[in-house]
Amino acid sequence: MNTTAGPDALDAPILEERPWAVYSACKNADPAIFFAATRADERSALAICGACTVARECLEFAVETRERFGVWGGTSERDRRKMLKG
Ligand code: SF4
Repeated sequence: MNTTAGPDALDAPILEERPWAVYSACKNADPAIFFAATRADERSALAICGACTVARECLEFAVETRERFGVWGGTSERDRRKMLKG
C-alpha cells in the first residue's frame, strides 16, 4: 500500500517498507473499498481484514505512520482516530 492505496500496491518499495504485505488478505482485493465512500464498502473491507493474518502488523504500521485514510488492520478511519485520542 502506498500511503493512499493498500492492497494493490505490492511493488518493490512497498514490500521493502511493509514486507508483511505479501501475506495480506487484501492483496488481490479492490483497493477502492479500503478507501471507501460508503459504509457498505467499508464493511466489505473490514470483513477482508477479519481474515487477514497480518492484521496486527498492518494496524501497527497505520498507527505508527498516523495513517488517516482508509481501512487498515481491521480498523476504520474513525476507529484509529479514537485510538489515537485515547
Ligand atoms: S489487515 Fe486489512 S488492510 Fe491490512 S493487510 Fe490485512 S486485509 Fe489488508
